[in-house]
Parts: sequence; structure tokens; C-alpha cells
Amino acid sequence: MHFTRRCGCGVAVLVAAIFLLPIAVSGQTIQLHVDLTDARRNIYHAHLHIPVGPGDTSLVFPKWIPGNHRPSGPIGGLTGIQMEARGHPVLWQRDPVEMYEFHLTVPAGADSLDVSLDAITTEDSAGGGGPAASDNILDLNWNAVVLYPKGVRSDDVTFVPSVKLPEGWKFGTALEVSRENGSHVEFSPVSLTTLVDSPLIAGIHSRKIELTTPGESPVHVMDLVADSEAGLAMSPKDLAAYKKLVAETGALFGARHYRHYDFLYTLSNQVGGHGLEHHESNDSVAAERTLLDPDLSMLQASLLPHEFIHSWNGKYRRPTGLATPNYQEPMIGDLLWVYEGLTDYLGNLLAERSGLLSGGQYRESLAATAAMLDHRTGRTWRPLEDTARSVQTLRIILTPEWQNWRRSLDYYPEGQLIWLEVDAIIRQQTHGKRSLNDFCRRFHGGESGPPRVVPYTFEDVVRALNDVAPYDWAQLLHQLVNATSEHAPLGGIERSGWKLVYNDQPNVFTHAAEKKFKFADVSYSLGFSATEDGKIADVIVGSPAHQAGIGPGMKLVAVNQRKWSPPVLHAAIKAAQGSNQPIELLIENAQFFKTYSVDYHDGEKNPHLDRVAGQTNVLDDILKPMTP
Ligand SMILES: [Zn+2]
Repeated sequence: MHFTRRCGCGVAVLVAAIFLLPIAVSGQTIQLHVDLTDARRNIYHAHLHIPVGPGDTSLVFPKWIPGNHRPSGPIGGLTGIQMEARGHPVLWQRDPVEMYEFHLTVPAGADSLDVSLDAITTEDSAGGGGPAASDNILDLNWNAVVLYPKGVRSDDVTFVPSVKLPEGWKFGTALEVSRENGSHVEFSPVSLTTLVDSPLIAGIHSRKIELTTPGESPVHVMDLVADSEAGLAMSPKDLAAYKKLVAETGALFGARHYRHYDFLYTLSNQVGGHGLEHHESNDSVAAERTLLDPDLSMLQASLLPHEFIHSWNGKYRRPTGLATPNYQEPMIGDLLWVYEGLTDYLGNLLAERSGLLSGGQYRESLAATAAMLDHRTGRTWRPLEDTARSVQTLRIILTPEWQNWRRSLDYYPEGQLIWLEVDAIIRQQTHGKRSLNDFCRRFHGGESGPPRVVPYTFEDVVRALNDVAPYDWAQLLHQLVNATSEHAPLGGIERSGWKLVYNDQPNVFTHAAEKKFKFADVSYSLGFSATEDGKIADVIVGSPAHQAGIGPGMKLVAVNQRKWSPPVLHAAIKAAQGSNQPIELLIENAQFFKTYSVDYHDGEKNPHLDRVAGQTNVLDDILKPMTP
């Protein structure tokens, strides 16, 4: 009934469509003005002028948000709804079942409806788990401030958006400006699809960096806003790397599916951290000092490459289940191991090929990912595809408790292992003549031009792989994605001439994260990680700590009778090596204290990749940049 592509019967669909077609039909234009001057208080005020004829109609608030892959439209923050026609209030009523739908009757003689509404943005709508605005910056996701007629395709509704910014704030967006007058900015008319796909960031401290050489097309720009002027500083090395990233994507895909591209990059500790992909921009948030601090910079190196690659993998090519006609139609996440998994693989690769990561840092990151997935005990009951299909529920609880047994959004990191294996097999099968680069060019390339969506199925992926290198891809992918297993798929690492090992040397990535985010990770030795205050985040099922009876949520108080701290814990693991005395952990569980004896004597275990002697180093070939 929503003009769904799943309907097979043309006649039945047409009849249903006419019957349910709202009064505001395609071709009409909705004026939308958003007053952002209250952003510091995390409330945006919107006004919509919607052409409608008299009679019963329904308006909807976007529910299923692209990139979030779930019904995350921030309905809880939608407030202050007031409707008027011909200067008189119009009563509205929320649907008793569908909370995102509002029913109303437009009075006789009216040809339009004026709607005022507020979006409370203390929980940002991009899914970052924090506010959308601070004292110095704001992030406007238009889905938080629109209502649109029920039943229409988002491609068929036109919006003319405008904003009023806080005095003196500068903005960045992929939308085209039609008029700018001080803090009042008007944009060219766009479809609802493009509007929701084109967020706007603004701030007191801002900077615009050109990433393409003058005269080159399409233009790539980085729009930075930060909580301080200092946070905007980008080193010449990073600038060169982001320029190279643009060149590397051109070499990899051979086409660009946007008219221009904006990296919208917010540097702040005050707003919700996230990365959200769009066709012509990405909306990414990292800590305020990310450009200044080498550890933060390394930990976030793949953020912008990942979101940028989504323009091809996720936006242009999209699984059929995620290519929905509007924001009320449910999404099906089964192929997220391609949408997010392949993007995770390519995002890390391109961070390395562009120079944002060194080869050594890339390998340490891959080792940390592989080790984490190899200790996901939940893989014995939950195949990877189920983590993708369950995105709606898995995203609700992202807390670490029992994460190894529950599994998390594993279709992201495990995609790195799956697509590395695919890459290595293509190279082996073709004696190095072809690689996953060729797949990307065939699958994501084609004609350059403005944004469009080309949906795909599992069979399309298999077909495109077979075009690059004949192999039983369907069998391999089914095995990797649909089967349960005790261990992570490490075949790609092994086929690339490397193996996952553990020793007492710190892993560069994990060590940096422990320092920056103040926690202790002894997952592969004792079997748990703990935050600075001693709270145990997760305990790996079957590990020494698990066998001793320790569980997540308990609090570590002392180690061998000494007050707990990360150095004290690490020292105890070292001392237990070669001794037969168990490690004594004093644990607080709500109001009760107990000492647990952990019988562990094998020392620190940190993951790394080691070369396999005599095997070709395929990983080094994979990491080679494609541009000079
Ligand atoms: Zn992603």
C-alpha cells in the first residue's frame, strides 16, 4: 500500500494506491524553515507549509532512518506540534498503534496546512548516543524536523528548506544554497530523499578545506566545526592523506556517484560521537583533539574513509531490503555484512593506502579485531547473518555486559575477515592478476553521475564475484555468514601469509584505547575488561575469570590484597607466571564482597599478526596504494 516494490500485482496495487493516496500528492512543494538559534539549549524550532486539500489526511514522521537501518526516528524528541489551516487550529490525533503517524481533517476551503513543531535534540538523531548540539556547534538531521504525507515515496515529495543559524555561526552541507542573508540561509528545492540525505553542521569555530585541486571535478570539501579553534588544526600529513583518500577512491571504483562531496566533520567531546553516511556527504563526529593527538588520530583513522566509501557501498549499491521507498517502510538488514562489512574492510584498507594508518598500525588493528571475534563465544549459537538481521534489537543494547555471548553488531568487524578472505582467494585463483579491487570497480563503478540507488541481492554479489574470478562463492559466503562456528574466520589472514598470535607485547591499538578511554583489557589472559572505576565490562565465557565465577557488572576492588588499578592488575598477571598461586580478586557485587581465586599462570596475551615463513606476503600487496 506504500507503492512498495514488493508488490507483484500491478492492478491491485493501483487500486489500493488511489484509495489511500493522501491529499497532498506528488509534485507539490513543502516549505520548511528551521530556526536553529536555540541550538545551545538543544531544541530546534521548525515550521512547515504543506499544500493539502480539504478532508481527512495523515502525516508521518520519518521512522526508519537510512544508515541507522532501524526504526530510530527520534519520535520521543518531537514536541510542540501545532497545526493550522486558514488561520484556525486544526486538531490532530496520533495513531493509537503507529506512533509515527498523525491523523487530521483539513477544513473545507483550505488548500494548505501550517505545522509548527520542535525537535528536542538532547539525543541526536544520527544515533550517536549524545546531544546533537553544544554551546559552539550543531548538527541538523532534517528527518528530526519534518512531517510528510503518508504513503508517498520520499523521491516524490519536494521540500524547499531554509534555516536561521545562531549569530556568527558558519555552516557546511551538501545542499545547494540559493540565497544567503546573514544568518538566514535558503536552499534549492530538493526531494525529501535528498533532504534527509543532506545534514547540516554549523559552529562558531569552523574551517573549510578543499581536497581537490582547483578545476578538478567533482569537488571534494571538508567542512570542519569544533568546540575550540585549536581543534580545527590539521597537520600537512593528514591533509595530504585526505587528498590521497579522494584519489584512491577514484582509482578503486572508477566512477563517482555524486555531484560534489562534503566531509562534514565535527570535533567535540560534548555531542554524540557517530559517523553517518550519505550520498554526497558524511556526518562524522570525533573527540575534540582527534586532529592533535596521535593516539586519537590513529584510533579514528578509518572513520572518514569508512563513511566516504559508503557513498558507493551502501548508498549507490544497496541491498534490496534497505532500499525502501520512504521512511515508514521497514528495512531488512540481512546483507549488512556487505553494506557495513565490506565498508569496514575497505575503510581500513583505504586508511592505510592513503597514509592515515601505517602498514604496522593496520596489522595491529586487524589482529585486535580478529582476536575479539575469535573470543565471541556467542558465535556457537548465533550465525553472523543473525547479527545483521537483528540490527533493530542489537542496536538497542550496546552495553558490554555479556557481549561476547550475546554478540554485537559483528557484521561490521567480521566483514573485515570475510572480505579479506575473498580478496586473498581472488588473488590466489587468478595468480595475482585480479583482486577485490576489480570487484569494486565492476560492482560499485559504472557511470559517474548524480546520486541514484542500484539495489542488489546475495545472488548479485555472487555473480559479480564470479565475473572477477570463478569460484564457489555462494558456498563460501554461506559458510562464513550463515553457519555457527567456534572460531572466527581467520582464513583471509592465513591465505595472506600471516597468522594471529598472542604475546606479552602490547597491541598498539588496544594499548592506545586503554590509555585514552581509561580501562584495562585482559580479555585474552584472565578473560575480562574493566573500566577505570573497576566495573567489569564483560567476561568471556569459559575464560579463567568466568570459570572462577566472576561476571560483568561486578566491581573489581583489589588484586592480591592491593587496591585495584590497571598497573596492579597487569603486575599480578606477570607475577603469577611461573608461580602456582592463584590471582586473588576482591570483587564487590552490589552490597556484597567476595574474593575470587583465578588460577591463571600463562602471562599477558595480546594479539598481533606474525608472518608465516615461506608464504607469500599477500597482505602487503593488498595494502599497496593504487595511486602514485
Ligand atoms: Zn558504516
